[in-house]
Amino acid sequence: MTINRILIANRGEIALRIHRAAHEMGIETVAVHSTADADAMHVRLADHAVCIGPPSATDSYLNIANIISAAEISQADAIHPGYGFLSENAKFAEIVEAHEIKWIGPKPEHIRTMGDKVEAKRTAGALGLPLVPGSDGAVSDYDEAKKIAAEIGYPVIIKAASGGGGRGMKVCAEEDQLETLMKQAGSEAKAAFGDATVYIEKYLGNPRHIEFQVFGDGNGAAIHLGERDCSLQRRHQKVLEEAPSPVLSPEERDRMGEICAKAMRDMAYRGAGTIEFLWENGEFYFIEMNTRLQVEHPVTEMITGIDLVREQIRIADGKPLSCTQDEIRFTGHAIECRINAEDPFTFAPSPGKIDYYHAAGGMHVRVDSGLYAGYRVPPYYDSMIAKLIVYGRSREKCMMRLRRALEEMVIEGVKTSIPLHQELIQQPDVQSGDYSIKWLEEWLKERE
Ligand code: ADP
Repeated sequence: MTINRILIANRGEIALRIHRAAHEMGIETVAVHSTADADAMHVRLADHAVCIGPPSATDSYLNIANIISAAEISQADAIHPGYGFLSENAKFAEIVEAHEIKWIGPKPEHIRTMGDKVEAKRTAGALGLPLVPGSDGAVSDYDEAKKIAAEIGYPVIIKAASGGGGRGMKVCAEEDQLETLMKQAGSEAKAAFGDATVYIEKYLGNPRHIEFQVFGDGNGAAIHLGERDCSLQRRHQKVLEEAPSPVLSPEERDRMGEICAKAMRDMAYRGAGTIEFLWENGEFYFIEMNTRLQVEHPVTEMITGIDLVREQIRIADGKPLSCTQDEIRFTGHAIECRINAEDPFTFAPSPGKIDYYHAAGGMHVRVDSGLYAGYRVPPYYDSMIAKLIVYGRSREKCMMRLRRALEEMVIEGVKTSIPLHQELIQQPDVQSGDYSIKWLEEWLKERE
């Protein structure tokens, strides 16, 4: 059975991104949407559209029963979950498969393992990935915690096993605070995720965030598509991403990429995945694995020429990987700017009507966005409204093109983060690639 009709269980730019890949493959699409998204671009372009509930995500994009009903009514034979929402919900993946609908994603058991950070770290260690030194699993006993922290050395970071989106983390500078901070982290995690389990790891002072894109066929074949550097973050949210990383040599990429690909082969991982590391003084430390497509996947597409969504669909359809590791070439440099509907100084969300919209264009410029003049950015969801992705044969040329493309982008009616990006790429450290995960927040503080 081949895939003929994909239900896209998401919204915004990623829903459009999935629609595009499907249509290029001759596959029909079903858009599901909340009442707030009835006028969205992907809903207009999809072959079929089903309203699945009111604006609140809990009642629509997270409403499993309504999404499954929509798939049955529209006779979709596959579901692509995009990122966020239900994309890393193992139960949803199981329900989809139980309905004999193809799940365009990893095996449910792998989603579950990697969704629990303690389990994920244990699995990563067993697969040979380098770890951040820390507790061997969950810690609940304070004396034991003190012993572990003393061994690895302060500062340490206390993290929630079920954490995500940068929440449930506490940095602890000295032993006196350890017990209090562990209690706080535990109760915050309990409130946010329903699970108070915490673990401890060494707090790295000034690392970069470097992640590897991997793909498996589910039968033991797996490849890597190189890395992305996502160190420019605000409150653990990525702001600008690039590939390749300015600090990695081709030898290091091959070495680390192979370690990641081998881990995926040993797991018989299926579909797209991202293995995230902190990188400091030439060493990699695994932090987590995301079992889905990432927001920043286009920078990888730009330097490899491989359509990652097409690859995901092919694998879900039971086809082999479209290329071998030897066939993958990394060429040039790509940078992505996340454009949010928000104030570029206060970061306050700025939903509302788009009065005028003009996307940047020209050679090697890509805009992934569902925006159009007259569209209303709803206040209920994530504020990201567009991604500007630019390619250049060298990092320097890519930066020049990015500056030009940002000048061309016009979004009127709501405030956007375009001015922030314009200022950001003028900074000497950003131009030279000399930044860590702390850089952006420090720069923002000085800018105030
Ligand atoms: P989440 O799942 O909440 O995103 P991660 O484990 O991916 O949590 O960590 C998010 C971010 O927190 C990282 O990108 C990094 O900025 C910071 N961080 C996490 N672990 C450490 C650590 N051991 N040392 C320093 N910073 C860390």
